[in-house]
Amino acid sequence: MSHTLLYGGTFDPIHHGHLIVCQRARELLVADEVLLIPASVSPHKMVGHVKSATPAAHRLAMLRLAVENIPHFTVDPRELFRAGPSYTADTLDELRREHPNTRFTLLLGADQLPKFHTWVRVQDILAPTPLRDIAILGRPFGDKDPTITLSSGLAAVREHLGPDVAARFEEAVLPTPLIEISATDVRNRVREHLPIHYLVPPAVEAYIRTHDLYPTPGRAKG
Ligand code: ATP
Repeated sequence: MSHTLLYGGTFDPIHHGHLIVCQRARELLVADEVLLIPASVSPHKMVGHVKSATPAAHRLAMLRLAVENIPHFTVDPRELFRAGPSYTADTLDELRREHPNTRFTLLLGADQLPKFHTWVRVQDILAPTPLRDIAILGRPFGDKDPTITLSSGLAAVREHLGPDVAARFEEAVLPTPLIEISATDVRNRVREHLPIHYLVPPAVEAYIRTHDLYPTPGRAKG
């Protein structure tokens, strides 16, 4: 039976933090493949009704460039073609229907734990099945929200989803390296005309420059 890791996100843009932890997770879990699944409109990143992500076509193009030479990494764009917001539960259902004999493990960044209980059909995502599991990727939070830590994320899971789920998550934390890179930082650095070449793959950096993504506010696009 093959084993596929599912890694969802906005990927605005994909960066080396994503790639390094996925690669390590694949080794640790002895998985065959990593599917990177860009979200069309991340329901978890809405501010009011507004989601200010870069158009899906750009995020998808950057993902494809980032993985084109990485064996066992594939981009699955299905959520971009779905009407409305993309829900992980729907994606899991579809993948399981399409690949009934594949084992899937959903990779969750630890920064997603505090709000995980609000995900649509969270109990379906959690339902333990022999063909599906969850693994948690540690993450440094300094440049995002310093009030979130792995333990506060697990505490939120305990509070909202109960001690059994929290215990399961705690056991599922993978010893992946803590890479202090975020897409927010990459976007800000581009806006501030700072280098990003060790943060994203060269082809992604070239794409950002060519398409003038993340322009400095107030600067007219040429
Ligand atoms: P943003 O800064 O825009 O919020 P991001 O860097 O968190 O973006 P996403 O596309 O939102 O990137 O993240 C996709 C997944 O990757 C999430 O599960 C997130 O927790 C995880 N992730 C992102 N960066 C890292 C990192 N440096 N280390 C570990 N996990 C990460």
